[in-house]
Amino acid sequence: SSANHSRISAEAVISTFASAIGLPCSSVMIGRVAKAGTADLNAAVAAADTGFALWRAASPLKRAAVLRGAAELLRARADQIAPIMTLEQGKPIAEAKVEITASAEILEWFAEEARRSYGRIVPSRLDGSLHMVLKEPVGIVAAFTPWNFPISQAARKLGAALAAGCAVVIKPPEEAPASPAALVQALIDAGLPDGVVNVVYGIPAEVSETLIPHPKVRKISFTGSTPVGKHLAAMAGAHMKRITMELGGHAPAIVFDDADLERAADVLIAAKFRNAGQVCIAPTRFLVQRGVYDRFVDLLKERIEALRVGPGIEAETTIGALANPRRVEAIEALVDDAIAKGARCVTGGTSGQGDGWFYTPTLLAEMPLSARAMNDEPFGPVVLVAPFDTTEDAISEANRLDFGLAAFGFTGSLERAEAIRTRVEAGMISINHWGIAFAELPFGGVKDSGYGSEGGLEAIESYLVTKLVSQMP
Ligand code: NAD
Repeated sequence: SSANHSRISAEAVISTFASAIGLPCSSVMIGRVAKAGTADLNAAVAAADTGFALWRAASPLKRAAVLRGAAELLRARADQIAPIMTLEQGKPIAEAKVEITASAEILEWFAEEARRSYGRIVPSRLDGSLHMVLKEPVGIVAAFTPWNFPISQAARKLGAALAAGCAVVIKPPEEAPASPAALVQALIDAGLPDGVVNVVYGIPAEVSETLIPHPKVRKISFTGSTPVGKHLAAMAGAHMKRITMELGGHAPAIVFDDADLERAADVLIAAKFRNAGQVCIAPTRFLVQRGVYDRFVDLLKERIEALRVGPGIEAETTIGALANPRRVEAIEALVDDAIAKGARCVTGGTSGQGDGWFYTPTLLAEMPLSARAMNDEPFGPVVLVAPFDTTEDAISEANRLDFGLAAFGFTGSLERAEAIRTRVEAGMISINHWGIAFAELPFGGVKDSGYGSEGGLEAIESYLVTKLVSQMP
């Protein structure tokens, strides 16, 4: 939509998209969002400035009440919001509901953390004086969130920022705009004062080029691809803005010959195909010890062939359409390249079922390291398997790439688990089960996967600044 009619309410965005429920599953226009131009972005920052003055002065209990209220509204509205998310993003409706309730939990976690942004008193060496270490909100935050988890990625940033007392200008994804608008509507309905959260959609580069250098904006938080994250981090560095960067991954999943193979296959297939693989922490390089390699490939194949591809709105669907045509093209190119370089396609490997951006869940075995998929983040429904011989081989392959977000290991041996825990370079490691991405746990990567945390105690810290006040009466 053009820049000159950019102000619309969150409610209007949601209702336009809601009216599309029941339309054919894809290839139809389901709604429009307003595009923010420079004047709108500056107006959003000005509104945030007013909102910040109010919100930083609100007690942590008041902030917590709004976050908790929004969590309750999200839960109460989950059945209305989930089909909107499925329609605009593609994921199965059951997954959309899980995302909404998990987001409610994220808001509740930060509501609790709001009350625990403790400073401290340092015993003074100067008689009669007091050294106070105070925590204050960093200021106005510019937040950029992606289309794969339209509500929960926004909930992580908004929850932490609002708990800390910050105001936010958020650019949710233009490709899935209505469900994040529903999150913001829940905050408004729970009593969030005007100006504290401001939603803009637009041309991503134009929005970041206006917001990041803006003198009133003090903190940048981005979730998305590594190349875009590096670009935005450099811009933020040039303007001395604090950053949180949650970027791409290429998670190794190491399966040793002493692992419970059935359990490993169950956990890894569920984690891999959630949201059709469009997940930054999805297991990607399945490294399987040679003695159990053939058997494990069979176990994976069985489970993959039981998945059901279809429109996300249908209750039986376990893999919905991909979020956009770029993903289908990217997956086709990666699969063709892998097969040309010697990979064996065990199952799947086709796109274009029906009307929509579908891609069959795919298993590629004997993956050569030269294949692009073993180096670039596939971000789609493709399992890549390669054999290994020794622990040393597995760890060295796990650490070969510049990514360092999630990693998985399956073994019955404490010694091997210890090797994974201590030597794999990743921000989040889960051994013998799925145990990451919960609200109370740190969420973030190392190396090219980013900087900072979007969960746990650490998340709120990145929206606070430390001020020392040393006072003599
Ligand atoms: P992309 O690199 O074009 O965009 C990724 C995200 O960044 C989008 O949300 C987009 O709106 C935003 N963006 C792009 N350029 C921007 C700019 N100059 N300023 C501000 N925001 C900008 O890629 P895409 O095709 O949308 O997504 C594909 C890739 O993105 C995937 O392969 C994956 O690596 C990555 N991704 C990661 C996550 C994650 O959770 N870490 C989520 C979505 C996408």
